[in-house]
Amino acid sequence: MTALAQRISAVNLGQGFPDTDGPSRMLAVARNAVDEGLNQYPPMNGLPQLRRAVTAQRLERYATAYDPDSEVLVTVGATEAIAASLIALCEPGDEVLYFEPAYDSYLPGVAMAGGVPVPIRLRPDGGGFAFDLDELTHAVSGRTRLLLLNSPHNPTGKVFTREELEAIARVCREHDIIVISDEVYEYLTYDGATHTTIATLPGMRNRTLAVSSAGKTFSVTGWKVGWVCGPADLVAAVRTAKQFLTFAASAPFQAAVAVGLREELGWVETWRTELRDRRDQLRGGLEQIGAAVLPCQGTYFLQIDTRSLGYADGQRFCQELAQRCGVVAIPSRAFFEDVEAGLPYVRFAFCKRSDVVAEATRRLSSFNAKEL
Ligand code: PMP
Repeated sequence: MTALAQRISAVNLGQGFPDTDGPSRMLAVARNAVDEGLNQYPPMNGLPQLRRAVTAQRLERYATAYDPDSEVLVTVGATEAIAASLIALCEPGDEVLYFEPAYDSYLPGVAMAGGVPVPIRLRPDGGGFAFDLDELTHAVSGRTRLLLLNSPHNPTGKVFTREELEAIARVCREHDIIVISDEVYEYLTYDGATHTTIATLPGMRNRTLAVSSAGKTFSVTGWKVGWVCGPADLVAAVRTAKQFLTFAASAPFQAAVAVGLREELGWVETWRTELRDRRDQLRGGLEQIGAAVLPCQGTYFLQIDTRSLGYADGQRFCQELAQRCGVVAIPSRAFFEDVEAGLPYVRFAFCKRSDVVAEATRRLSSFNAKEL
């Protein structure tokens, strides 16, 4: 879809990264770190100041204490944290529960670890997306080892409620399941929805690897600085896998993210409210053409159900939208193993400059569903 967007000079709301930079002071710290010679391998665990900043943030925001030396590992983005966690903890034949639709690195990660992915479907339930607790319970077997959780959730924009997380936690405790909790959108929630990390629920801290990343929080997706927090034994296992994947993540960017976590959360709050406004702007444009827009309480993605516009296949809709209006979105089927289930949905990213979102909205208004 990006190649198509470039070919026809479309407004690209397909790719999930911002077109503006993060906090300028944080960018300056990265530049200075290079100038000051922070250009060789950092410690495998990550720079101590970043590990301390992460533990301070987890304590402040979630009242969960981690030891910066043994319970935090800095990774090359959340992607490496997830891959290394899977490689470390999933043995061949182990089953890994995950919610579908899912971020696209999960299934290849499970495959690389030799695991067997077991999907739990998130289904539209009127007010958003929900899972069926019976389906989750029945999906557990003697081989279930891990559960991959993502909240706030890409691509649905769902923020799992505390009650939902409590139900998931109960299943995990009962069946001795370890949770990899992907929280990269931890700050990007709207309309009063709050992100709860499952690690804070009773009995969960010591069976949860909480994964996050600077990419979404500070609009520096290209820096690929992520981290994982958890009990020392699990983090030691992840570190062992990470040692032979990348050994260490980029030193100057780690130094900058440490400052970002300590000093730039005010910037993040402004970014969050800007995103909320862009979401509303895009939602308005989509509703104007008659699209059924699914609720979005978090992340920077909006999904529509293209059946409301007379389509059965989101891919066809995306192609026609690009050709007719010059706006590119992506078919959500890319996030489904069960392609049929994902067929009608399309995802728009609203993390673009407000003039870009406004231009997309303007172009959308020329889309006339009745022509179909
Ligand atoms: N998890 C989810 C749910 C994501 O949406 C993304 C980025 N699109 C990632 C992980 C990857 O994060 P990073 O760039 O830090 O590797």
